[in-house]
Amino acid sequence: MTRIIKDIEAHYEVHEAPFSRSYEWHPASVTLVCDCGERFTLTATSTTTTCRCGTDHGDIVRNIQMHEDRLPNKTIHPWHHDAQEQEEQHQQDEVTYPKGSPWRYNDVTSGTTNVE
Ligand SMILES: [Zn+2]
Repeated sequence: MTRIIKDIEAHYEVHEAPFSRSYEWHPASVTLVCDCGERFTLTATSTTTTCRCGTDHGDIVRNIQMHEDRLPNKTIHPWHHDAQEQEEQHQQDEVTYPKGSPWRYNDVTSGTTNVE
């Protein structure tokens, strides 16, 4: 049996500095050990899902993708919920999108989009 040893939820890590706050996107990832003992860390964007022994772990990648589609808005856009707090601090914080992040191109406010 394939054994999942680590399952990390997608999240933003907030980096606080005296005059700034930045968000670093950490995609969901799953670390698993294949039957053959090979260790994998898979994310929603993993392209190599087949182990050297021939076992395809693509199902796990699809699971992560489905899960990320259902993330609550708070997880995806934490700065919306921090806006009030930042206003009180009279700070002008710049939100930094991670380069190449797929979220940059997704309009998550426009409702549910089903892509088959
Ligand atoms: Zn294997």
